[in-house]
Amino acid sequence: MNNQRVVIIGAGFAGISAARTFAGTSVDVLLLDRHNYHTFLPLLHQVATCELEPEHIVCPIRKLLKAQPNVQFATNEVKRVDFVSQVIETNNCLIPYDYLILACGSTSQFFGIPGVYEHCFPLKNLENSVNLRNQIIYCFELAQEEADFSRRQELLTFTIVGGGATGVELAGELAELIYGTLVNDYPAIDFRRVRVVLLQAGDKLLPEMPLHLSVYAKRQLQKMGVEVKVASRVTKVMENAVYWEDSHFKNSQTIPCQTVIWTAGVCGNPVAKKWGLVTDNNGKVTVLPTLQVPEYPQVYIVGDLAAPQHEQFPMLAPVAIQQGTTATNNILRQIKGKNPQPMRYQHQGSMVIIGRHAAVANLFGKVNLTGFVAWLLWLFVHLACLPSTRNRFHVLLNWVWSYFSCDRSVRLILPLHPTNQSKPAPQGTTEDGKRVEIN
Ligand SMILES: Cc1cc2nc3c(=O)[nH]c(=O)nc-3n(C[C@H](O)[C@H](O)[C@H](O)COP(=O)(O)OP(=O)(O)OC[C@H]3O[C@@H](n4cnc5c(N)ncnc54)[C@H](O)[C@@H]3O)c2cc1C
Repeated sequence: MNNQRVVIIGAGFAGISAARTFAGTSVDVLLLDRHNYHTFLPLLHQVATCELEPEHIVCPIRKLLKAQPNVQFATNEVKRVDFVSQVIETNNCLIPYDYLILACGSTSQFFGIPGVYEHCFPLKNLENSVNLRNQIIYCFELAQEEADFSRRQELLTFTIVGGGATGVELAGELAELIYGTLVNDYPAIDFRRVRVVLLQAGDKLLPEMPLHLSVYAKRQLQKMGVEVKVASRVTKVMENAVYWEDSHFKNSQTIPCQTVIWTAGVCGNPVAKKWGLVTDNNGKVTVLPTLQVPEYPQVYIVGDLAAPQHEQFPMLAPVAIQQGTTATNNILRQIKGKNPQPMRYQHQGSMVIIGRHAAVANLFGKVNLTGFVAWLLWLFVHLACLPSTRNRFHVLLNWVWSYFSCDRSVRLILPLHPTNQSKPAPQGTTEDGKRVEIN
């Protein structure tokens, strides 16, 4: 009898974990991703703020799978899946499957707010982070030459929308970049006029964390020069301004600025709905506790794209990793004629870095840490979780360098694609003028 063929779409945390769990089995696995590299998303904000090079947080997928002869990889964008005839259509071929694991991740959620899609900078993938880094540095370059006061103020105001983990980490890193490093690069700029504003629609930052950790995060950010505005809901974004209203008093306010960074919402990758799967109102595919699609028991959904009926899981890397393992184990059970098992998530905790010697951590939902100990733990855990030794070496080297020199050496404006244009493209676009593609 021929080996069963499993296809995995998406080589993020969930897809890689699923592929690795097939090691040593007699199943033929094909992993597909539109990129030939895996991105360690939890450090994207450090690429955007000149702490790390993009190469430091990615790893070639073939390298990650080289010890697994039964797993093949192909760089391919999947265009469509026919779940009835069990065939995948990519940009250059048709691929049949016996079992399918969909691990296509998530995209930014803009909630239909006018101007957000057109004018905001998302932070969901490597291209986004390089694009944002270009924008930040380019704003300072332009501001240095700008004679008009209000235009200069717009260039020097950076608004981050969303006070969850990504927004808080980015706000802290951006404040350190600006007031710690860029202040030495641009002597003609009055840095008392540079603003980093964090807008959060809810009443507290880090809504998933206990209250005293949220309070600590807010206080630390304020000490670092970030203007934190809670209960502040964005209503519109324009090319040079963000409009928001106070959730309690309903009064409208405006911040003139050229850079609005959107970290306020995430939804399931829209491809699932496009391919005919049933999704919830957050774009995630509704699946059984075993992670199977109810109509197609050979199809599993894992990671940010999955919404199991029995339990709501946060969109976190450990959830994606554990779901990838569960899906693989369930396919192996199905092949042996056994029943698939429900997913059981073991929550290890969550942590957020705010700045030098400042972080918060909630471990196993029980132990809460702040300050230096939480900061050390954050560094250690992120270093340990990076995909390869080479990544760990480069990231550690950069962290040590920045720590002792108080300098961020990656403050470069780089083209995203080879180009002969000398200036970066306008905000929200790539060098060739296209909007940046989100996952
Ligand atoms: C800025 C940021 C910071 C984060 N920080 C943390 C953190 O500190 N801790 C934490 O636990 N979690 C964090 N997360 C969340 C975590 O990264 C996600 O929960 C996790 O990546 C989800 O894994 P996934 O495999 O479902 O999706 P992803 O990791 O997003 O992978 C999806 C993959 O599918 C591929 N793909 C999509 N569509 C197609 C297609 N049509 N054809 C081919 N390939 C396709 C993509 O290229 C991508 O490689 C962060 C996320 C972001 C964006």
